[in-house]
Amino acid sequence: MTPVSTPTTAWATIRKRGWPRDVTPNVVDYEAAYAEFSWEAARTALDGLPGGRGLNIAHEAVDRHAAGPRRDRVAVRWLRRDGRTDEATYGQLARSTNRFANVLAGLGVGRGDRVFTLLGRVPELYVTVLGALKNTSVVCPLFSAFGPEPVRQRLALGDGRVLVTTPTLYRRKVAPVRDQLPQLEHVILVGDEQHADVHGTLDFAHLVATASDDFTIPPTDPEDMALLHFTSGTTGTPKGAIHVHEAVVAHHATGTSALDLHDDDIFWCTADPGWVTGMSYGIIAPLSHGVTCVVDEAEFDAERWYRLLASQGVTVWYTAPTALRMLMRAGADVAHGHDLSRLRFVASVGEPLNPEVVVWGQTAFGLPVHDNWWQTETGGIMVANLAGCDIRPGSMGRALPGVEVALLAQGKDGRAEVRDGAVEVIDAAGVDGELALRPGWPSMFRGYLHEESRYEACFAGGWYLTGDVARRDDDGWLWFVGRADDVIKTAGHLIGPFEVESALMEHPAVAEAGVIGVPDPVAGEVVKAFVSLTDDHEPSDDLRLDIVGFARRRLGAAVAPREIAFDQHLPKTKSGKILRRLLKARELGLPEGDLSTLEAAR
Ligand code: ATP
Ligand code: MG
Repeated sequence: MTPVSTPTTAWATIRKRGWPRDVTPNVVDYEAAYAEFSWEAARTALDGLPGGRGLNIAHEAVDRHAAGPRRDRVAVRWLRRDGRTDEATYGQLARSTNRFANVLAGLGVGRGDRVFTLLGRVPELYVTVLGALKNTSVVCPLFSAFGPEPVRQRLALGDGRVLVTTPTLYRRKVAPVRDQLPQLEHVILVGDEQHADVHGTLDFAHLVATASDDFTIPPTDPEDMALLHFTSGTTGTPKGAIHVHEAVVAHHATGTSALDLHDDDIFWCTADPGWVTGMSYGIIAPLSHGVTCVVDEAEFDAERWYRLLASQGVTVWYTAPTALRMLMRAGADVAHGHDLSRLRFVASVGEPLNPEVVVWGQTAFGLPVHDNWWQTETGGIMVANLAGCDIRPGSMGRALPGVEVALLAQGKDGRAEVRDGAVEVIDAAGVDGELALRPGWPSMFRGYLHEESRYEACFAGGWYLTGDVARRDDDGWLWFVGRADDVIKTAGHLIGPFEVESALMEHPAVAEAGVIGVPDPVAGEVVKAFVSLTDDHEPSDDLRLDIVGFARRRLGAAVAPREIAFDQHLPKTKSGKILRRLLKARELGLPEGDLSTLEAAR
């Protein structure tokens, strides 16, 4: 099968002329930066534990700044749901995390023991994460909106020994299943709420208040397990990806290259630390750079987000396509009432970023959006549009310095074809292939917990296979086509849903789109689109025809959707990604029971 089109050229390259706020980006000459980079040199940007005792994420993120000139700089500013603001300087964060490390040590919790969090974006979450890392325990963050079953599953799978949560979340999600979690020894509750009645739990505030704020991080091997992250579950049951302390080398280096962090930045990552983005780039990378992080406890609200960007003077903003599409839906006018003059760099990750959104950034924020690509397994950004380089809207960028990518020829199932252990690397531009990475970068996952064979199946011919399909253009820019499982096979062509979704979004009535292949006796599959409309449009047959016609002109009849359904509530994972497999399951009429199981597992 051949791809039906080469990378989209409908959007003009965005040329960088001069630098916003006159700050020269960290990488301006991509080729030179790529050629010069080595992970050994990247390691030297970090300190290591004093006395050559190894490498610990929390030391790099907190203690080394607390011991130097950044001691009194605000490390994290938490904007609380009730309107309060809490702050911790690097010095204060070093002490509070020492206290929590002592709490764990006092409970007999040590190296390798799993410490889970089920918390909103509150200060105690950050103290727990960094304190547990100091104690060489393993942090496993859970998204606080998970239901009881996903919480139980992950605690059981991950051998959770400690859980830090709130009384309400505990009562609702953990107490009913605690007898099924024999390995869960300590539950520590956070919050002002009365919880004397919650049996078998400890009180975070009391434990921390009575612990010493002196703590020496024990020797930490860079290969010691530090984090356990469950994947988003977009394509199936979530997997527990294991990450080690050495990952901080990649977090720091990509903070420099992909997020363009500078010393005095005010950084806002909108991802929840329950997901890998919120951990790698909401906590570790920015703190390792000693910048100030802003954390918003509340959920998305267009007006409030702009207010936050302005009032906090955010300079670097890392967010997600789903949030940007919602902002776009609200209209650029909402942005214009706010002073975004300090904002210098905007980046996005998690799903393909439609070119229209990249360009819209210029209207709303005065800056284009820089897409980048990575996954839970890679632990850090691998492919990016850089602050100092031109942007090709719709492309996820180029391989970061230190990252070697390849596209591998696909077999019938859309995954790289492996023959006698070997794979075929595609050299030509414009040809689809499975995106692969050469193992060896520091934040690469070291395994899927309890799933050795699933881990081994991710490697072939000396490459890590990502499960995503992409194309490369003549100059090395990579263009996301779709997940191997989502790619549509119709009448001898392979179609990436992203390309179709992006074209649909260019229609003025379309706010968001999810595209799938539905079985067809003649073509194998035909393209079907589910679209949600912008606030000023109503579903109608005329509008449907108009959108179909628009898509045909833009994509050609072979690629344009045959069918369009209106759906104002496209199904999404808890992290906000469109669940194409759920759209497909519904389309195929799987029993409702199956669907609700699928949704409950999110
Ligand atoms: P699961 O592996 O459980 O199915 P998931 O793949 O959604 O879930 P994550 O690790 O959170 O879990 O997401 C990584 C995936 O998200 C990537 O493999 C890719 O499919 C998609 N993705 C991330 N960033 C981008 C991007 N910039 N462009 C296109 N796709 C992206
Ligand atoms: Mg995945």
